[in-house]
Amino acid sequence: MPELPEVETIRRDLEPELSGRVITDVEVHKADIVLPPHDARSFGRALRRRTVVSVGRRAKYLLFYLDTDSVVQVQLRMSGRFALGREVPDPEEFRHIAARFRLDDGRTLFYDDMRRLGGFRLLARRDWDLEAARLGPEPLERGYRAAHLADALAATRSPVKNALMDQRRLAGVGNIYASEALFRARVDPRLPGRDVGPDPVRRLHRAVRSVLRDALREAGTSFRNYRAVNGRSGAFQFSLEVYGREGEPCRKCGSAILRIVQAGRSTFFCPSCQA
Ligand SMILES: [Zn+2]
Repeated sequence: MPELPEVETIRRDLEPELSGRVITDVEVHKADIVLPPHDARSFGRALRRRTVVSVGRRAKYLLFYLDTDSVVQVQLRMSGRFALGREVPDPEEFRHIAARFRLDDGRTLFYDDMRRLGGFRLLARRDWDLEAARLGPEPLERGYRAAHLADALAATRSPVKNALMDQRRLAGVGNIYASEALFRARVDPRLPGRDVGPDPVRRLHRAVRSVLRDALREAGTSFRNYRAVNGRSGAFQFSLEVYGREGEPCRKCGSAILRIVQAGRSTFFCPSCQA
């Protein structure tokens, strides 16, 4: 599932292409990708002849801001991906097109989603702002300090790994980058949030930011289905230290990387470095 670096990569790909463009027509081929409160028909009607003012991101959501004081929230989940062009650029890669957004420059924004777990929600700007206010801080924003992470962790008995993935405590971090950040910070993922001491919190704060920045520089992690726009791959999968490396030697100390399950998700860590 795309996390902050992957969604931000897509945003950066789409922003210069879509800003200022008018959506001339919308075709929804798979009705279940339109999430309430709209259905496929009312969604298409509401978007037709609207201008995309800007493309944003908050947490793991991609956002198309429209000239009508409304916003399209895109949830990419497992297999959602975009292509932009007059034709589908790579028909082999894009075989499950679920929606087409035709633009006033003659191009089309294609949305492909094999598993259709993702989708589009059209919201009034004020409703989205209320929802966004309940999400945790953005870790790459300048004002995000170690004290914010300390507060978020002090309030919970949950394992620190789960707390990092809780979107109300911290926005945009999921399974891959939580595991990687904990490794960089040498923090045991099972430690209850409130038991993470001041020094480890400072290390973790730095590690969360550095791992997200490094992944963003590599256009994200193309582990399974994620692609940026038009099939562009990320490369951070080659820099992963623990995620997906169960049984392989830790690159720092040589111990075998362990995999455990926390809250139904795999956590990878080094039992020596993260003791
Ligand atoms: Zn190690």
